[in-house]
Parts: sequence; C-alpha cells; structure tokens
Amino acid sequence: MRQFLFRLQLGVIIVSGFITIISLIYDVRSVSIQLVGHEIQWQWWALVGFIVFAGFMTWMVIRLWQDPAHIEIRKDYLKQHLEAVKDLIEQWKSDIHTPNVSRIGPEFSKVPVPSEDNPLFNSLRKHLPNQNMWRNYESWKAATKKYADSCKQLRTKIRESWTIDEVKIERYFEQPIMRLLAKQDKKLRYKLWVASGHNLSELEYQVLAVNDTDVLKNPNVTTFLPPLQDEQCSEETLPREYQKIADRFLQSDAAKELMGLYEKGLELETTMQDSLQSMLLASEHSKHTCEYCQRLV
Ligand SMILES: [Zn+2]
Repeated sequence: MRQFLFRLQLGVIIVSGFITIISLIYDVRSVSIQLVGHEIQWQWWALVGFIVFAGFMTWMVIRLWQDPAHIEIRKDYLKQHLEAVKDLIEQWKSDIHTPNVSRIGPEFSKVPVPSEDNPLFNSLRKHLPNQNMWRNYESWKAATKKYADSCKQLRTKIRESWTIDEVKIERYFEQPIMRLLAKQDKKLRYKLWVASGHNLSELEYQVLAVNDTDVLKNPNVTTFLPPLQDEQCSEETLPREYQKIADRFLQSDAAKELMGLYEKGLELETTMQDSLQSMLLASEHSKHTCEYCQRLV
C-alpha cells in the first residue's frame, strides 16, 4: 500500500507537470494568435483546481489508510492469509510422497501434487525464496517421473513374459511380483482352481490366484472343484511358471535399477520434507511477503 501511495503522489506530480507544460505551450501560442488575457487565466485556474483536488484525494486515502479500524482489518486479512499459506505448505509437504513400486499401475503418469492447483501456490515462491529448496523440488519431480516410467516398463516386461497362450493373464498379473519387490509381501502363496469335470493337465480350465490376486483366468469357466493351496499345487504347471517369472525379475538388473530410482526419490523426498519442516518451525513464510501481503502492510 505504501507503494500505491507513492505512485499516487508521483502520478499527481507528473500529471500536474504535464498540464503545466501544455498550458505554457498553449499560453505562448495564445499570445501569438493574440487571444485575450482572461482565456489564459482560465487554464491556470483549471490547473490549480486539479492540483488541489488530487492533493485532497491523496490526503483522504492516507487518512483512511492510517485509520485504526482500517489497520485492524488489514491485520486480520494478513493473519488469515499467512495461516492459509502455512496450511498450504503443510499440504504440500504431505503431497511430496514417492509412491511404492506396487502403487504405480499402467495408468500412472506422474505423482499427483494437488497443492500445486491451489491459487496461492504461485505466491509460495515469494514466501519461501530458498532457491535450493525449489531446485530440490524440481529434482524430486523429475526423479519420480523417471522412476514411474521405469516401473511401468518393468511391469510390461513381466506381462510379456507369460508364454502359455491358452491361459490368459489378468489385469493385475504382475502385481504380486511388484508387492514382493516392494517388500509388502514376503513370499508368493498360490491358490489353484480346476474347473468341474476337468483335470490338472488341462491348463485352459484352471484359475490361479497369487497372494489373493487373480493372475490367470479363463472367463468362460465358472464352476470349480475346491482349490489346491500352496504346497498342494506349487509343483503344478501354472504356479511353477509364475514362480519362474517372479524369480527371474526379482533378481534382474532392471529390478535393482528400479529400486535404486525409488531410493533416489525417497532421498529427495526426505530432503524436501526436512526443508519444509524447518521452514515451518522457523515461520519462514511470515518473514517474506508476496504481492498480496505487500498491499496489506
Ligand atoms: Zn503473502
């Protein structure tokens, strides 16, 4: 607001100066064309009237600005604004979360950061002017994007590894392997169903679930014999083939590389979380102001 008053005063001076020059030019020209004296005086009176009016308006604005009631209102607005900024920083802090490998499905494109959609988010750069922190944030976003792409590629490779054409893979075929990679499960537990009237040599009449997720299924088969579980079926074709794929991928360089990218994302996430936490504790956001704050102080 102080800037506004300064600009207003500057505006009055410039406009007054401009009108003076125009009037003087008009004055000289008027003389040259021999206009009568009272017309020249009228121009000067208009100029004086304008300056008085502008000065009065400036004085009124300054009075209103210094009015105690108005000062209190501005303080309240500022307090609410700073609280909203603090809430946004806290939400942002919780948004910065690198998802586990089992959370990244085919539809995953990037880590959602809903706080970025908040209209106040742009003003955070003014409230938290620590450039190093902003660079870390961009690094975290780039690292998690690379990690998510790598994760999706690994999922595709796992799905493409299934070679028994007569048994179709399910939507979440690779999920039990990803959960094992994420250390959310310790081992693969199998459950195998065989359709009524068929036997274990007829693969297309079987359904396999791993850790309670259907991975192989024939949608046309609806009635089954009681399922075989774990040791009862682990040597059968479908569980055995699935286990082979899991073993191969869990030991692969691609899986190690993926976990390396995940660790990198976590590292940057921790750095960001620590920075934001220490800034919140030190109320850094209150020390630096945005354009909105500047209009209130
Ligand atoms: Zn602000």
